[in-house]
Amino acid sequence: MNSRCRIDGCNQDRVIHRTVCSKHRYRLSTWGDPHFTQWGTADPLDVELIVTEQRPAEGLTRLERVLVARGLTERQVPAAEVARIVGVDKRTVHRWRSQDRQKQAA
Ligand SMILES: [Zn+2]
Repeated sequence: MNSRCRIDGCNQDRVIHRTVCSKHRYRLSTWGDPHFTQWGTADPLDVELIVTEQRPAEGLTRLERVLVARGLTERQVPAAEVARIVGVDKRTVHRWRSQDRQKQAA
């Protein structure tokens, strides 16, 4: 019995009584498109998974990179490691962090 998500290239287990995994179900229910991504959108499941597993990820939207970096920073992950995981320059991570600090201070 096939219990994998029906989306091509996805090897996640599907949600019970569904034909797709939780990530694709979220995208379908939110945007009606399992492949929907654009720079200003973020998939909270992706972000949470990357922050939790701290593994390098490709194909992130710009907003997802910012959110992952923020989540990793909250977990005291060093900037160099954050930069490696989200695939940006270390200076970019420092810039995001100072922007966040300014927002919090405002
Ligand atoms: Zn899937």
